[in-house]
Amino acid sequence: MNIKPVLKRVIPFQVGVKLRGGYQKFLKIIYQGNNYYCPFCDNSFRTFLKGGYPNPLAEKMEIIGAGKRSNMLCPRCYSTDRDRLIYLYLKEKTDVFDKSQRILHIAPTGSLKHLLENIPHLQYETGDKYEEGYRGYYYDRDVIQMDVTALPYDDDQFDMVICNHVLEHVKEDIAAMKEIRRVMKKQGKAILQVPVAMALPETDEDDPGNAQERENRFGQFDHVRLYARDYNERMKKAGFTVEVHNPGNDGWDKKYKKLSINPLENVYVGIK
Ligand SMILES: [Zn+2]
Repeated sequence: MNIKPVLKRVIPFQVGVKLRGGYQKFLKIIYQGNNYYCPFCDNSFRTFLKGGYPNPLAEKMEIIGAGKRSNMLCPRCYSTDRDRLIYLYLKEKTDVFDKSQRILHIAPTGSLKHLLENIPHLQYETGDKYEEGYRGYYYDRDVIQMDVTALPYDDDQFDMVICNHVLEHVKEDIAAMKEIRRVMKKQGKAILQVPVAMALPETDEDDPGNAQERENRFGQFDHVRLYARDYNERMKKAGFTVEVHNPGNDGWDKKYKKLSINPLENVYVGIK
């Protein structure tokens, strides 16, 4: 039985934050070493923690970034392999760390949010659709309610939009991508990560609308499709020019190994 959801319900939020912080300080000491590095909390470890959940479909369909994986979570700040991949992309391929710009982050994960909101030259905004079970436990009040198919912004506002692991939950995903593109400035970048089944040539999206069947076919009860190798073609349908970056062969040196990033996981970027 997973007791985490129960604990989250009975322990008050601020107490939960303090308890988790204390526990993570303890883990930092236990796991310290030189094999791996977390750029979010600037600590080195002999190992990262296991994470994810066992998922037979993830193995069968070669769904990158799904299923249970070793060396996934940073013991100190709980950054994931996916977070560290985005960090490396931002560092190697963008001017986010050097140049003033406006960024919209939809459904922000804790470590990336914490990093970006503390860079003084960024105008960083966050939003999420607060559906049952999906409100991030560590969200602050500044993550505003937002529907990705109807963003509350005028055209041509953002230099970058980050919207990771959201589109697989959205029925009208092409409409959502068009909407993201609409609020971006020309030449702006959208980072649009989703789980991609590399064994599957075409996206499976005939949503059965039933939690068990979705779990069997798409790998999670609330995913409405399973993306495949044609994912970048789908991004093109929304009007994007698509860049696919890969840590294993993208000239990112060997840094990805130290950060424990899956070299098979691509970064999908839509350019307006
Ligand atoms: Zn960390």
